Parts: sequence; structure tokens; C-alpha cells
Amino acid sequence: MGFEAKSKTLLDDLIENAGGCAVIDGGLGTQLKRHGASFNEALWSALCLINEPHLIRRVHLEYLEAGADILLTSSYQATIPGFLSQGLSIGESELLLEKSVKLAIEARDEFWGSVKDTPSPGQNYNRALVAASIGSYGAYLADGSEYSGCYGPDVTLDKMKDFHRRRLQVLAQAGPDLLAFETIPNKLEAQACVELLEEENIKIPSWICFSSVDGENAPSGETFKECLDIINKSNKVNAVGINCSPPHFIESLVCKFRELTDKLIVVYPNSGEVWDGKAKIWLQSTCFDDDKFELFATRWRDMGAQLIGGCCRTTPKTINSISRVLKGWS
Ligand SMILES: [Zn+2]
Repeated sequence: MGFEAKSKTLLDDLIENAGGCAVIDGGLGTQLKRHGASFNEALWSALCLINEPHLIRRVHLEYLEAGADILLTSSYQATIPGFLSQGLSIGESELLLEKSVKLAIEARDEFWGSVKDTPSPGQNYNRALVAASIGSYGAYLADGSEYSGCYGPDVTLDKMKDFHRRRLQVLAQAGPDLLAFETIPNKLEAQACVELLEEENIKIPSWICFSSVDGENAPSGETFKECLDIINKSNKVNAVGINCSPPHFIESLVCKFRELTDKLIVVYPNSGEVWDGKAKIWLQSTCFDDDKFELFATRWRDMGAQLIGGCCRTTPKTINSISRVLKGWS
């Protein structure tokens, strides 16, 4: 930290242009499935990078239209070991990671090109930023451990860093505006992310988001204070928050995070339906819909969140609802 003056980043500019709170996109996999994309267990939506990239581009454009100021790339579950397990080479795997960033940048540029000179009344767009999605180790394991935080006794800090390092390098080199570590379930992985950003001398603004299954702590049971103490020491992380957790946890977690950090706060909960990692199905919830997102998004903003969007099972309709309340869209 030191006395070095904190320079303003693209992310700060975006938040300012968006009036103090920028909108992130919603569930990518959810929307891909609606368009008939095929997934498999090892790669989940990353399979579309190989077979159906046009659908990824289509979903990016739908979220931009709905008002997203930030697009997350289709790399959440795209990992080099995951691609290798499907018979691809290292070179092919790295090209697919790059492609996830390129698809989002192309969609952003195309959309921005079409709206910047022809603003439509009641819908003011910002030039969106592209955040390279970096799913947790648990997301790669695909065993639900991103929601339990239990990686077992053999997973050390070095192993975590080895898992994340090459993908981080490839994604960073592909030219995204931001890096988004997502669904981090424990302190060890947060520390690995922080150390890697430092070791790789990453200059791109980043955020680290945790999941939470009890609304109070990280899934591992470690307190968010323990987790944020590590992140607060790094000036390479610009924002911290919560993703893919039930929306009714978010208000109290934003309050908690506001007390624990001076960094920007980012929240993009899921729809409130619960993922059963063993059965691999979503358990229905009736407690939340897009109208409630509309109501709650303003509360999260008023509590101090500066980046708000949706995760699994949210759709362009959800993001449009959030845009209407946060941007005053008609
Ligand atoms: Zn999610």
C-alpha cells in the first residue's frame, strides 16, 4: 500500500460515468441454455467456446442491450486441465481462453459502435468493460466444493497458485479490461489470487468475489474478516464482494464488507434457487423474482455496493430491471 497515490482506473471511471453504481451482466450459462446450447460436465458452458461461440456472442449482446456496463467472459469453467481432459492440446486450450475474451470484446465494440452516436431516450448506455472470469478451483472440480470451501488436506497454497497461474497469464494477455475471480470459497484461495496478481505483476484492475452459503461467512466457515484482511493488504485488488449466493444474504453482507474494507464492493447474487452440487440440479425457490431484484438492488447500492449484477439463473430481464432502477431507465 505505502504512500503511493492511488491512480484512477477504468473501473473507477465506469462507476463514475454510471452515476456511482455500475451494472454487471447476469447468468451466462442460464441464457446459453435457453438458446439451446449444449454443456457437458467437465466444461459446462465453456463447451460453447468450442462448439457454439456464436451463442456466447449473442448472450453478450443481450446483456449489453439490457444495460450491462460490465460483461463477464465465458471462461468461468474454462481451464487448461479441463480442456486437456477433453482431448485438446495446451495450445488449443490457451486459444480458447483467449477466444472467451475476444468474443466479449467484439460484442462490446459492435454494440458500442451501434449505440454511441444514436442514444435512445430513457436508455443511456456506457461503453462496457470486459471482465475475464476466473472461476474458483472448486468450479473446475465441478463437485460443488466452491460452495463448501472444502478442498481437502492436499490442497496447499502452492497447488492453488499452480492451478490458477497459467490461465491468469493467458487471460490477462488477451486484453480484458478487468479480471474477476469468482465464487472463491475460502481464505487459502483468496490468498493464492492475491499472491498471483503480485507475482505476475498484473496491471489490470481486478475483483475477488466469494460465495456464501450461510449469509455470514465464507463457505469454508472462515470469517470474511480473515479473508478480507489478506485482500486489504494488496493494492492489486480493486473490489471485493459476493457472487452466486442467494439474494437475501446480500444486504447484510454488503454492510459487513463495508465495515471490513475500503475497496469497491461488488455483488451479483444468483436468483435464490439452490444448486445441488451432487445431484447437479437447481432446487426451486419461490422467494425471489426480477421485481424483488429491482427493489433490492437500490438497497444494496444505498448500503455501499458500487457494482451490482446477477449470477446463475438471472437473465437479461433481471439485468434490465436492475438497469431501470439504478440508471433511471424508463
Ligand atoms: Zn452463479
